[in-house]
Amino acid sequence: MTHTDTIVALATPSGAGAIAIIRLSGNDAITIAAKLFASVSGKDLTKQKTHTVHLGNIMDDTRVIDQVLATVFKNPNSYTGENVVEFSCHGSSYIQQEIIQLCLRNGCRMAQAGEFTLRAFLSGKMDLSQAEAVADLISSDSAASHQLAIQQMRGGFSSEIKQLRQELLDFASLIELELDFAEEDVEFANRDEFQKLITRITHVLKRLIDSFATGNVLKNGIPVAIVGEPNVGKSTLLNALLNEERAIVSDIAGTTRDTIEDEITIGGIGFRFIDTAGIRETTDTIEGLGIKKTFEKMEQAQVVVYLFEASPSALRASPPKGEKYSSISVEVEKIKNRFPQKPLLVIANKIDELNVTDRSAFKKQITKTLPTTNYQLLTLSAKTGEGVEELQTTLFDFVNTGALRNNETIVTNTRHYDSLLKALEEIHKVQQGIDSNLSSDLMAIDIRQALYYFGEITGEISNDELLGNIFANFCIGK
Ligand code: GDP
Repeated sequence: MTHTDTIVALATPSGAGAIAIIRLSGNDAITIAAKLFASVSGKDLTKQKTHTVHLGNIMDDTRVIDQVLATVFKNPNSYTGENVVEFSCHGSSYIQQEIIQLCLRNGCRMAQAGEFTLRAFLSGKMDLSQAEAVADLISSDSAASHQLAIQQMRGGFSSEIKQLRQELLDFASLIELELDFAEEDVEFANRDEFQKLITRITHVLKRLIDSFATGNVLKNGIPVAIVGEPNVGKSTLLNALLNEERAIVSDIAGTTRDTIEDEITIGGIGFRFIDTAGIRETTDTIEGLGIKKTFEKMEQAQVVVYLFEASPSALRASPPKGEKYSSISVEVEKIKNRFPQKPLLVIANKIDELNVTDRSAFKKQITKTLPTTNYQLLTLSAKTGEGVEELQTTLFDFVNTGALRNNETIVTNTRHYDSLLKALEEIHKVQQGIDSNLSSDLMAIDIRQALYYFGEITGEISNDELLGNIFANFCIGK
């Protein structure tokens, strides 16, 4: 598919900057650019080689708008595969607008979100999953999400899918050929080889599907719920972790009613902290709603952090000896029972309030009272920062970064995940077909369906709606 029109957009963030880049792409990109651009040495832009840079002025008739550099890329050697010109101008919003307006008046139209990358896809410069990785790369904000995007953009995952699709396609053709010779009862497709291929495909699909759980958390950050009674220091801890005062810290119990989310990066992995209202039994309706929300947030979290205070007042509080912290024990049990599979970190906060004697008394009490298994205990002070680093290390250790370290293929995109699930479902049907000696014509239908879902991932099969959805999420100018 080729586009006849030429598009223009600002490729750098809007607003003032040292320089800004305005990008034109399409058949007429170079001729339109040449109309506005007067090279200082009198060169004609249309006669220049691809991948060359030229100094000149952008002219609105006789008025100089700016002195710029014009970079020329010629079809097919450009990002979009079309003729492309990039003007690097001074980054004033006014200049940017003036140049874009000039381009529009001279025959360009404004690019839509992601249209440059859409054109790159349509002209075969990249497949669909690589195009999607471009958007991920632009939005990557941690070492992990960056590595995933780069890996996908370089085609690691789609080349595997393409290869399997091709092998399946070859078998499909042979099986369909058998249909033409139905009378003769011949088998062109070697059934043993076919079985081997289906086993291999099943294996690869399962591996990719499983990788999504890891990929998703690495890409979007690990959700961590911070739970605990009001006033134990959840917001303070969050602030200590974020190192800035974003959550509301107050002395009135129960003030953190809404959940606050924020993200920090530990060792290249993003963690999304969800500060909650705690799970204390309550008659206050607003707070009651908060508790319901807390459980919902815990459900969504990958790791739960339960916070309580180790202050002298808590240590000397009313329950008789041996029963101190028993209510905390009950809460911890509650969380463990409700979310048995979730890593649970139990944190004793406000350790700074305990002197040396209190600290050892506290340790004794707490080991006596708390459940013995399935959680990790840490003591810290959110206020002074003591133990906060250990918390970060512990959190990092919860994340399985093995796959990332080993450079394994990891699926991060929900659309790919859906297609992989559907492809696996169809491959299961094919397997059942093999097992039950299904006739070639019926088998061919299931294979075609599986091929369809494979093709959806890399874009061999696509439609306007699908492309529209994908590229609408891009920024303009990419
Ligand atoms: P939340 O309701 O659980 O979010 O508790 P806050 O973070 O609002 O803290 C309640 C009070 O405890 C505030 O006055 C904090 O300054 C104080 N606080 C929090 N963490 C610590 C700590 O580690 N040591 C001491 N001494 N006070 C703390």
